[in-house]
Amino acid sequence: MTQKQKEILQVPLLDIPASYEQILADVEKKISEVIRSGRFILGPVVEELEARIADYCGTKYAVGVSSGTDALLVSLMAAGVGEGDEVITTPFTFFATAGSIARVGAHPVFVDIEPETFNIDPKQIENKITGKTRALMPVHLYGQCANMDSILEMAREHGLAVIEDAAQAIGSEYKGQRAGSIGDYGCLSFFPTKNLGGFGDAGMVTMSSKELYERVKILRVHGSEPKYFHKTIGGNFRVDAIQAAVVLAKLNYLDHWTEQRRQNAKTYKKLFEEKGLLDSLKLPSEAAPRHVYNQYVIRVKDYRNDLRQFLDKNHVATEVYYPLPLHLQECFGSLGYHQGDFPFAERASTEVLALPIYPELTENQLEYVVEMVAHFFEKIT
Ligand SMILES: *Cc1c(COP(=O)(O)O)cnc(C)c1O
Repeated sequence: MTQKQKEILQVPLLDIPASYEQILADVEKKISEVIRSGRFILGPVVEELEARIADYCGTKYAVGVSSGTDALLVSLMAAGVGEGDEVITTPFTFFATAGSIARVGAHPVFVDIEPETFNIDPKQIENKITGKTRALMPVHLYGQCANMDSILEMAREHGLAVIEDAAQAIGSEYKGQRAGSIGDYGCLSFFPTKNLGGFGDAGMVTMSSKELYERVKILRVHGSEPKYFHKTIGGNFRVDAIQAAVVLAKLNYLDHWTEQRRQNAKTYKKLFEEKGLLDSLKLPSEAAPRHVYNQYVIRVKDYRNDLRQFLDKNHVATEVYYPLPLHLQECFGSLGYHQGDFPFAERASTEVLALPIYPELTENQLEYVVEMVAHFFEKIT
């Protein structure tokens, strides 16, 4: 079998073991440091990671937490969002965004997306703001920042907190500012499939206000300050030190990996153009540099599910993020939304398809993916 044949036997959506090759020595060294220290929860390695991430994102502070979901939850708690309040967000995102709003007793209020970027459409936010609105929660979907200028302007005007769901967007930039440093709170996830993933669950909240920093730190440990004295009720949102060690070791490679993802996106664009496929599908747009391509998501009208099946048969893994917008989820039925409320989000859910974009993809694999897409469209026309 030739090298090329070997590479295209299987094109997975993400090849986590492939990234171990480069990093295992660094990761093992850092993990054994933790094991030897005996500090498995919080402690010096977590503090080291917090400082490095704050620096990377361009904020003064960062607080390591148990997951991206808990980063959102603890930020909402720190912002004082609670029973009966409203938080404006997008219906086209991972469940955790709206789930965390509901978990603090508030109502997610949805606003449709911009079809080009898949991110919340700021033009539609203003007329959803009511006396109960406490926060705006934009999501930087797939690794590209939402249109933050308009969002910040509205937040200032109405005195609202801005919580960035940057779970997919570490290193992404908006007008020179890093994701997580633009709003009041930035919420990162180190879930293994994110651009900077641990070997388990972990997350981080970034911020530049000392007051918010102190508040999140106290909420992380059941609202305890000093120990065993509770002025507020928090939770166990602590991150474990072994995850922090893994993320810390991998952080040194993040910019390189991001560059590879961006390079893969460029190669896809070139190959799709060469195959004359731009009438059959729509490539992702780069509205706000820089896009970090946690996902490379194309749009395919009418044939999305057929194409997905065809690729699967030919050993190219794909995924649909997300097949059902949040306003139509059963658990949010009581919010009173209906089919047709957010036409752009609903349409996106029937058209989006994420192709493999992970850093270790080879040129042969990229070519093979595009070849298979081309075959599919030859077959149906
Ligand atoms: C992954 C993700 C989260 C949740 O992060 P976890 O670490 O899995 O809890 C939240 N929002 C978005 C947009 C995500 O992609």
